[in-house]
Amino acid sequence: MKTILIAGGAGFIGTNLIKKLLKEGNKIISIDNFHTGKIENIENISSEKFKFIKHDIINPLPINDKIDEIYNLASPASPPHYQAAPLQTIKTNIYGVFNLLDLAKENDAKFLQTSTSEVYGEPLEHPQKESYWGNVNPNGYRSCYDESKRCSESICMNYYREYNTKIKIVRIFNTYGPYMDPKDGRVVTNFIIQALKNEDITIYGDGSQTRSFCYVDDMIDGLIKMMSTTDDFTGPVNLGNPREFSILEFAKKIIKKTDSSSKIINCPLPYDDPTQRKPNIELAKEILKWEPKIMLNEGLDKTIRYYKKIICKD
Ligand code: NAD
Ligand code: UDP
Repeated sequence: MKTILIAGGAGFIGTNLIKKLLKEGNKIISIDNFHTGKIENIENISSEKFKFIKHDIINPLPINDKIDEIYNLASPASPPHYQAAPLQTIKTNIYGVFNLLDLAKENDAKFLQTSTSEVYGEPLEHPQKESYWGNVNPNGYRSCYDESKRCSESICMNYYREYNTKIKIVRIFNTYGPYMDPKDGRVVTNFIIQALKNEDITIYGDGSQTRSFCYVDDMIDGLIKMMSTTDDFTGPVNLGNPREFSILEFAKKIIKKTDSSSKIINCPLPYDDPTQRKPNIELAKEILKWEPKIMLNEGLDKTIRYYKKIICKD
């Protein structure tokens, strides 16, 4: 039985990961400051192998247990959230990563950092390969997230080079599914909730920008496979579903699937909103033997069923 620490465990991906790793028989310690995560996501986890600590990773970690693996998911991920707390986001992705890496170093534990497709910024290479260095505005509104995640990759690589810390970097592309906060402002939740309530669907800009959407079960599978790679493999590895959709296509799909009477309206495009995004996942296929299995239709059906239940409870 492994003891696994999950930072950001009360958030969307964290909650899904905890459930999967508990099912596999591991002992889990979850840390979260509830910045964007929710107590409701984890309060019903009744396993004796599960412990929760409310803590901000910006501060040194109050952990005495021997840890085998650390997954770092702690960071606001939705653009409205990180832009509402830019300095907190930077501190989380820099001081927080230092604190977690110190813990990994003390415990000789493996450390997996969830980086992001945002390190590619407004990509000039399409689809994006891990070897692409990106095209990021270093001081724009998204930079608090993009640049601090880029720096987190550098911190990880330098712990690996200086201390031999066992690090793993994954770059996550847009992921969706149950336990996303319905109010977190990302496109999947906004459109599904708007459609289920027959409210206007808010397309930012003309909807020609593209994203590629990965269902959370596939993402969890990829994270666990990355953690189990040999100690000399650090990544970074892209994890995402390479099927690309325009935001307009995506809105129409959700209206159809929910049989909604919502109308599409166009709203201003946020600053530096990337025009296109699609992962090249050849490295994940080769090294992790991983590729997504759940395509958008199936994943959206599952996700819509989840949000229908949530709306009924409100
Ligand atoms: P989320 O906002 O649902 O979860 C993040 C969790 O981290 C929340 O529970 C939040 O309260 C916690 N947190 C934030 N700052 C913290 C701090 N200083 N100390 C302790 N806890 C803190 O987001 P998510 O979608 O689950 O994303 C998880 C990770 O994956 C993030 O690091 C994000 O950058 C990365 N990622 C996600 C996506 C995606 O599409 N979901 C895409 C790229 C990268
Ligand atoms: N978007 C939109 N309407 C919304 C929310 C988002 O058109 O109500 C667009 C947003 O401008 C971006 C894309 O959908 O082009 C994905 O946005 P999200 O916030 O989910 O994540 P991002 O990929 O930008 O980090």
